[in-house]
Amino acid sequence: MNKKFLPSNHGSIAIFERLESEVRGYVRSFPILFDRAVGTALIDADGREYLDFFAGAGALNYGHNNPTFKQPLLAYIERDGIVHGLDLATRAKKEFIEAFERYILKPRELNYKLHFTGPTGTNAVEAALKLARIVTARSNIVAFANSFHGVSAGSLAATGNKKYRRAGGYPLGNVTFLPYDGYLGPSVDTLDYFEKLLNDPSSGLDKPAAVILEAVQGEGGINPARFEWLQRLRDLTSRRAILMILDDIQAGVGRTGKFFSFEAAEIVPDIVTLSKSLSAIGTPMSLVLLKPELDVWSPGAHSGTFRGNNLAFVTARAALETYWADSKFEEEIARKSAILAEELKSIAKDFPSLELSVRGRGLMYGLVSQKHHSLPVHISREALRRGLVIETCGGHNEVLKFLTALTIAEADLRRGLSIVRDSIGAVQDSMETSPP
Ligand code: PLP
Repeated sequence: MNKKFLPSNHGSIAIFERLESEVRGYVRSFPILFDRAVGTALIDADGREYLDFFAGAGALNYGHNNPTFKQPLLAYIERDGIVHGLDLATRAKKEFIEAFERYILKPRELNYKLHFTGPTGTNAVEAALKLARIVTARSNIVAFANSFHGVSAGSLAATGNKKYRRAGGYPLGNVTFLPYDGYLGPSVDTLDYFEKLLNDPSSGLDKPAAVILEAVQGEGGINPARFEWLQRLRDLTSRRAILMILDDIQAGVGRTGKFFSFEAAEIVPDIVTLSKSLSAIGTPMSLVLLKPELDVWSPGAHSGTFRGNNLAFVTARAALETYWADSKFEEEIARKSAILAEELKSIAKDFPSLELSVRGRGLMYGLVSQKHHSLPVHISREALRRGLVIETCGGHNEVLKFLTALTIAEADLRRGLSIVRDSIGAVQDSMETSPP
């Protein structure tokens, strides 16, 4: 890369530092004034292009400003289509529901009702938790270590990370955390412990209304659960009349290779939460899928002004029609997933002293250094200087997180990976001299 990236326009974000609350997050990792975005390119106010390996934390699975959705969206606005409609019946919403039934539910033989919640993912999680508690008349929820489900009261209580929990400001309760698959190493099936707790009247575990989980933990460090583990958990919960809430907010909408992250494990959760890339173009939209027999909501009981983002319905429908009408997109994801996995393994092999390991599924991968926990943060900073936006995740930010758009061109995928390789090479020496 001969273009100069950071920090020539760094000064232009001074107003954010002066007036925006200290709660700012991602802008600290990427202190750049971004202006435009096309596909997998983020373009700053000085016209420099960055390759995006972050994809809006999973909200941009189809890339930025994908023309497939941009055109129908512009046409909808031009014809004065309803933008705000609470949960009124609108044509845009009807056509989205029809497309969701046709391209997602029917081909997978899934029988769910749809609950449109407020537009953030956390709102969908709140609704799912409330519903499970109402249906079962139990209050306890089982969540897993390293889970992330959002930062509003109910979802925060089911989120593991201390940083977010501390910011809650009051005691978070009614959730029991258990070890996720792999948490105690590859030889321990953590569900043995869960089963034992359920069987033991003296275990102290209040029978949960539901278990909430991600099939691949995102923020918690790209931890994919084994299919056998997911199947056993489904079986265990079904036998005990405990509901299974699958939070597919980050791992869904094709991220792990199929539309839903749980499809490959051939399980059917009772409740599913979707958000992020569901709207396709990055506008907020959330959805809870629930088995019909769980639909005990009284009218308007989980309400919200922004439950009907009609702009999102327009783009979401276009995405379903374009990408999910046949299996071509899934095949494309599988092909790029194989390239990503192979390249990451080759990078790990080329830097033996850093003890790198690779994990993930689909286009959701993590690179971890067993030796230097801080390595991913250094790589991310160095990569930014070289024109690549890539984030870290995990409880200690110890995982470099590969979350490209699913639509990324193979050449861009390879280019980004080569920037990562070069960045590791550039920071390697300083890592060797710093303590792990
Ligand atoms: N659930 C999962 C699995 C997530 O990854 C996230 C966000 O990263 C959420 C819930 C919360 O979504 P939001 O940030 O839109 O509230």
